[in-house]
Amino acid sequence: MSGVGQRSLHQTAVDQFQRAAELIDLNPSYREILSHPKNEIIVNFPVSLDGGSKKIFTGYRIQHNNLLGPFKGGLRFHPDVDLDEVKALAAWMTFKTALVGIPFGGAKGGVTINPGDYSTEEMRRVVRRFTHALGSNIGPDHDIPAPDVGTSSSTMDIVMDTYANISPPGFRQSVKGVVTGKSIEVGGSIGREEATGRGVLYSVRHWCGETGIRLDELSVAVQGFGNVGANFAELAAAAGCKIVGVADHTGTLVNTTGIDVVKLRHWVGENDGIHGFPGADTVGDEELWDLDVDVLVPAALENQVTVERAERLRCRVMVEAANGPTTADAEVVLAGRGIEVIPDILANAGGVIVSYFEWLQNKSARAWSFADVDDRLRGLVWQAHDRVVERRRDLNCSRREAAYVVALSRIADVYDRRGIFP
Ligand code: NAD
Repeated sequence: MSGVGQRSLHQTAVDQFQRAAELIDLNPSYREILSHPKNEIIVNFPVSLDGGSKKIFTGYRIQHNNLLGPFKGGLRFHPDVDLDEVKALAAWMTFKTALVGIPFGGAKGGVTINPGDYSTEEMRRVVRRFTHALGSNIGPDHDIPAPDVGTSSSTMDIVMDTYANISPPGFRQSVKGVVTGKSIEVGGSIGREEATGRGVLYSVRHWCGETGIRLDELSVAVQGFGNVGANFAELAAAAGCKIVGVADHTGTLVNTTGIDVVKLRHWVGENDGIHGFPGADTVGDEELWDLDVDVLVPAALENQVTVERAERLRCRVMVEAANGPTTADAEVVLAGRGIEVIPDILANAGGVIVSYFEWLQNKSARAWSFADVDDRLRGLVWQAHDRVVERRRDLNCSRREAAYVVALSRIADVYDRRGIFP
């Protein structure tokens, strides 16, 4: 979201990796390459509305880098989707996949649309026409979308079905891996739906291990109660954390004795948002940022933690479940106030990690058990955290810089060996 007067989100993403690049004196050519997406695909496509009229929508697929493997990243359906936002989100995917050591590059896509304004059938047609417009720009060994804000497993099922139907007949059974995050019945992986939230919880656990604080003593506030926020909150509550504040686009709830997250999820299923939930007090939206909690988890959209909010936060650690929730200036304020930040490319990598497992399962036509998925997820998240802690200590830098250093070192190593074509 790069509204008038706002700093470019893509520039923020570039500045973040450039700070880490300085620390390891990264080759200037690699810096230049990584400052730009490889491909920027913009499609304008017509969709028939229920009344019979046609409307043109704009969709994006930004393929940032595929040095380490096929382009990989979500599809966002939101009214604020624009080129700048998708470019930033695509770059973050390159660093996220490199950081956790999975063989993917980075991409992101989306459509500028408010899904709430359209019927289920209209949205199906939007997804089909968007997939058709992308055509061979995506593919199971080329570019693999997944869910993000405003999209879900059912969106991915339709993308896969459309892609299969526009593929030659002999290939239709082998293209399931064109998207991840599908329903299990359609070829998805057990554990993918909650994987991002679970990865966020593993990140909190790792921080507890570092600091000697017990997980079941933590109080937590969460902004965003969609796929990531709600799954995280439910898993955290089940692990003994007290969820004292929750916000979404319909309002903010506080209950200092703990919100019953399972009941709240049922409420949201029936009411389209958390507003009106009887098990907590409804407060003003700004009050979320004043809560006296151990852990704050932004799990909604970017640029939520501004300087003004960073000055008021009372948490010990902020775990970035959303992509890009903290502005560059706010990060300086948080560092000055001694508030730890577990950066997005580390904290929310659980989703793309289990997407990788889904892709492997699709390639081998086998289904893994929950234990297989969960053990490997925890292993990769843990390994990435350990590497970040190590690099942070060696370089005496922030956790975000250390995460980028780990990612950039992997990317640079491969560029060094492969060279730049021709
Ligand atoms: P979602 O659409 O399922 O949920 C988004 C949530 O944010 C909703 O609860 C919505 O009400 C809330 N929200 C929107 N605007 C808000 C506002 N102004 N104030 C408060 N709440 C607001 O999306 P999601 O998949 O949960 O994604 C959330 C974030 O996590 C995004 O930054 C996304 O890029 C990131 N992420 C998602 C995944 C994934 O697997 N879905 C993986 C990694 C990162």
